[in-house]
Amino acid sequence: MGKPTGFTEFAREPVPWREPLARLVDFDEVYTDPDADENLLRRQAARCMDCGVPFCQSPDLVTGRSGCPIHNLIPEWNDLVWKGYWQEALDRLHKTNNFPEFTGRVCPAPCEESCVLGISEPAVSIKNIELAIIERGFAEGWVQARSPQVRTGCKVTIIGSGPAGLAAAAQLNQAGHTVRIHEREDRVGGLLMYGIPNMKLDKRDVVDRRIALMREEGIEIITGSNVGNGLDGTVSIDRLLAESDALLLTTGATIPRDLPIPGRALEGVHFAMDFLTENTRRLLDPNYADDRFIDAEGRRVIVIGGGDTGADCIGTSLRHGCRSLVNFELFPVPPAARAQTNPWPTWAHVFRVDYAHQEAQAKFDRDPRVYSISTTEFVGNDEGVLTGVKTVDMALDNGRMQPVAGSERLWEADLVFLALGYLGPEHGVSEPLGLELDDQTNYRAIKGEYRTSVPKVFAAGDCRSGQSLVVRAINEGREAAREIDRFLSGTTQLP
Ligand SMILES: Cc1cc2nc3c(=O)[nH]c(=O)nc-3n(C[C@H](O)[C@H](O)[C@H](O)COP(=O)(O)OP(=O)(O)OC[C@H]3O[C@@H](n4cnc5c(N)ncnc54)[C@H](O)[C@@H]3O)c2cc1C
Ligand code: SF4
Repeated sequence: MGKPTGFTEFAREPVPWREPLARLVDFDEVYTDPDADENLLRRQAARCMDCGVPFCQSPDLVTGRSGCPIHNLIPEWNDLVWKGYWQEALDRLHKTNNFPEFTGRVCPAPCEESCVLGISEPAVSIKNIELAIIERGFAEGWVQARSPQVRTGCKVTIIGSGPAGLAAAAQLNQAGHTVRIHEREDRVGGLLMYGIPNMKLDKRDVVDRRIALMREEGIEIITGSNVGNGLDGTVSIDRLLAESDALLLTTGATIPRDLPIPGRALEGVHFAMDFLTENTRRLLDPNYADDRFIDAEGRRVIVIGGGDTGADCIGTSLRHGCRSLVNFELFPVPPAARAQTNPWPTWAHVFRVDYAHQEAQAKFDRDPRVYSISTTEFVGNDEGVLTGVKTVDMALDNGRMQPVAGSERLWEADLVFLALGYLGPEHGVSEPLGLELDDQTNYRAIKGEYRTSVPKVFAAGDCRSGQSLVVRAINEGREAAREIDRFLSGTTQLP
C-alpha cells in the first residue's frame, strides 16, 4: 500500500470532461486528456485503502453483479501508480483486461460502486486511473503487438467482432491457435464501432488502433462476411464449422424491442440503432451518400427509453441541432441515495446524470427526462408523417405501474427514437446449426463452460447472456477462450 493515509488526505477529484456546450459542436470524445495531470492521478491512486478484501476487483462475492467483472487487480495498480511505476501498472492491467482503453471509457464502473472507501466517502476514481494507465502505455510505446512463439495448428473461427469476439480472439491467438473472425459489417468492433457513439469511444484513434495491433499479432478478420445458411449471399456456417476445430459465436443481441402501438408505421418513428449506426457511418465515411441517415437538425425529438442507448440518442440529436428534446422513462425517478434494500457493495440504483443529460441541461436548461410515463399512440398527418405522441402518466399501484386516469397528454414530435432494449440474438446462424435456445431465445450455453448444444460450437457475450456491458462481453470472451483452449489442447494455461 503506497500511502496509508492517502484516503484521509485527498478528496475524490475526477478527470474533468470537456464543457457540455463546447462538446455539442463536434463528435469528438467528451473526455479531456486522461493522462494530463500525473499528480492528480497519483493522488487519486493514493486514496486506495488496500482494504484487505478488495470488493472492487471481486465480482460474485454478494450478488454476482458487483465489483469488476474481469477481476482487474485494482489495488495493485493503484499502488503502482501512486509509486510512479506506470509500466508495471500496465503489465498488471493487461493480465486481466485485453482492452482497458475501451472499459476505461465506457464501463459504468461497478468497481467504484463496491469500493470500500465508498461506504463512507466518494469512491476511488478507479476508471480514470485505468484509462490513464493504458493511454500512457500507448503514448510511451509500451503497448506492442505480441505474436505467439509457437502455433498449435488448431483453427478457431469466431463469428462477430464485438468485444466478446475480440477478447476471445486475443486470448486464443496468444495460446497459439490460428484465429479467423468473420464480421458482417464493413468495420470491426461490433457495438464498439456501430453502437456506442464516437463521443464516448473514438472509432479511428481508439477502436481501430487496437484492431490494427490484433491483426499484427496474426489474427485474421474478414469484414463484409455475413454468416448464415449459405444462401442469399451468406457464408455457410456448416462449411465454416467443417473447416474449424472449434467455432465461437459472439454475434451479439441485436433484435431491438419494438413498441407496437397505433401509428408505429408513421414516417419519423425509428429504432435507436438505425439512428446511431448511420450517424457513425456518415462520420467515418467521407463519401457517405446513404438515404438511411436520419437528420435531427431542427426537429422535435422524443426518445422513448433510457439506459445507454437512450442517452446516446439524446447526445446525438443534440449534436445534430434538434429543436427540442424529451426522454420518456416508464419507471419513477430513482432515489438520490441507495435504498435500504440496495446496500453497498451492490450496484446502486440511484439517479444518475450521464454525459448526454448534462448536455441537454446545458442546451435547454432542463433535464430531458420525464418519468412514470407510457406512450399510447403515435399521431401523424394525412401524408403518414409523425406529428406527435400520446402518453398517459403511470403510478405504482400494488407494486405494478398502472395508468393514471385523466392524465393523457399529446406531445408534438417530428422524430421518435425507440430505445427499449433488445430481445436477443438473431437466428441466421443458430437455425442452420440447430442450436438450442434458452427461455429468452439466447443461445443456450452455461456461463463458465460456453458449450452450446452442438459439438465444437461455443457461444459468449450478448448472444448468450442477453444485452449487457462491454466489460461483461470481454469477460465472457476471455472465459470462452479458456474453455476452447481446454477443448482443443486437453489443458489450458489461459486465465
Ligand atoms: C447504443 C448502445 C450503447 C451502449 N453503451 C454501452 C456503454 O456505454 N458501456 C457498456 O459497457 N456497454 C454499452 N452497451 C452494451 C455493449 O455495447 C454490448 O453489451 C457489447 O458490445 C456486447 O458485445 P458482444 O461482443 O457480445 O456483441 P456486439 O458488440 O453486439 O457484436 C456482435 C457482432 O457480431 C456481428 N454479427 C452478428 N451476426 C453476424 C453474422 N451472422 N455474421 C457475421 N457477423 C455477425 C455483428 O455485426 C456485431 O459486429 C451499449 C449498447 C448499445 C446498443
Ligand atoms: S473494467 Fe469497469 S469494473 Fe473493471 S476496473 Fe475498469 S471501470 Fe472498474
